[in-house]
Amino acid sequence: MTAAVPDILAQIDARRDALVELTRDLIRIPTLNPPGRNYREICDYLAARLARSGYACEVLRATGAPGDSDTHPRWNLVARREGARPGDCVHFNGHHDVVEVGHGWTRDPFAAEVEGDRIYGRGACDMKGGIAAAVIAAEAFAAACPDHAGAIEISATADEESGGYGGVAWLAERGYFDPARVQHVIIPEPLHKDRICLGHRGVWWAEIETKGRIAHGSMPFLGDSAIRHMGAVLEEMERVLYPLLAGKRTAMPVIPEGARQSTLNINSIHGGEAEQEAGYTGLPAPCVADRCRIVIDRRFLIEEDVAEVKREVTRMLEAVKARRPCFDYEVRDLFEVQPTMTDRAAPVVRATARAVETVLGAPPGFVVSPGTYDQKHIDRIGRLKNCIAYGPGILDLAHQPDEWIGIDDMMDSARVMALVLKELLC
Ligand SMILES: [Zn+2]
Repeated sequence: MTAAVPDILAQIDARRDALVELTRDLIRIPTLNPPGRNYREICDYLAARLARSGYACEVLRATGAPGDSDTHPRWNLVARREGARPGDCVHFNGHHDVVEVGHGWTRDPFAAEVEGDRIYGRGACDMKGGIAAAVIAAEAFAAACPDHAGAIEISATADEESGGYGGVAWLAERGYFDPARVQHVIIPEPLHKDRICLGHRGVWWAEIETKGRIAHGSMPFLGDSAIRHMGAVLEEMERVLYPLLAGKRTAMPVIPEGARQSTLNINSIHGGEAEQEAGYTGLPAPCVADRCRIVIDRRFLIEEDVAEVKREVTRMLEAVKARRPCFDYEVRDLFEVQPTMTDRAAPVVRATARAVETVLGAPPGFVVSPGTYDQKHIDRIGRLKNCIAYGPGILDLAHQPDEWIGIDDMMDSARVMALVLKELLC
């Protein structure tokens, strides 16, 4: 009753055209986020497809989630197919939203043109190719092994590109990633077919504001410039904080190599008078800036504690305050995510590593993502630790003009995913 590896691989080979067509159909539905277009269409399309393959499908709106509105409702699909007997559930989760098109395209971003081994389009690599590969893998496996145990789930979820709160987070809060219901999760993000992504670094976003006092710009001594105070903060950051962060190295296998340390980006800076709308032809008014704000994006390591990450910033600000008369500041938390890294001995990691070795003839690389993705919600809200990202595509192409996915890469990833199902469900 156990399907042989060659049977499963033959089922994948027979579906090459189906994989290409499915990928193209998904690209042709422009699920742009923001604002969140055509989410219902893509969920309905996949639900119809999976229903024909024996899946029970739920199309769920994340009512009330950030971004959800009657104009742009946040739709999600959860499809489940029961096996012939009890066993584990393997869940493939892909986000169906894509980022804006941007400039620089030489092709129609939603025509899904095929040229040689490549399918072009916004979302081809991030991550409609991955969703298509998972669907084909699941269908091929079920055809080769109809009496398998457990269950297969496939979800297509909203808003990963904007935090995942109307997608995986919403489902996780409703128990969809409860370890009693789902035991293994694979997110087919474009990490390349020979790499297993175990998790991601942590994030802390905060806004730092320095305070001043407004006065006439011709008599700045009567006011207090919040911009000059911020200048002192930035200087202290260069002098103390950046060297401190550069010295913090992680044992996490983060790629690219440069992200294998703590990092800090200043996303924005704004002080004084608001910028005028384009087309305003007047001059600015002479004022001393009474406030200045920066938004920082601090990425931290599994070895770090978020409370200490915040204290470092407070200590830096207090050091400036001790030296500078009238210096006052405020720090506002905007967003934070804990780092996560699945154990290499976890069942889904071991099964995927073996499948990669069978299909590609060499063991996989293990990597950690510099930025977060939906695993954060599965880990924190769902409390499910047996989760990885594994899928076709070249990460660097994500969000770029002329984004594409390789058909051979999708085929290889589909082979790997089908063999993972065999190992976990047969
Ligand atoms: Zn993605």
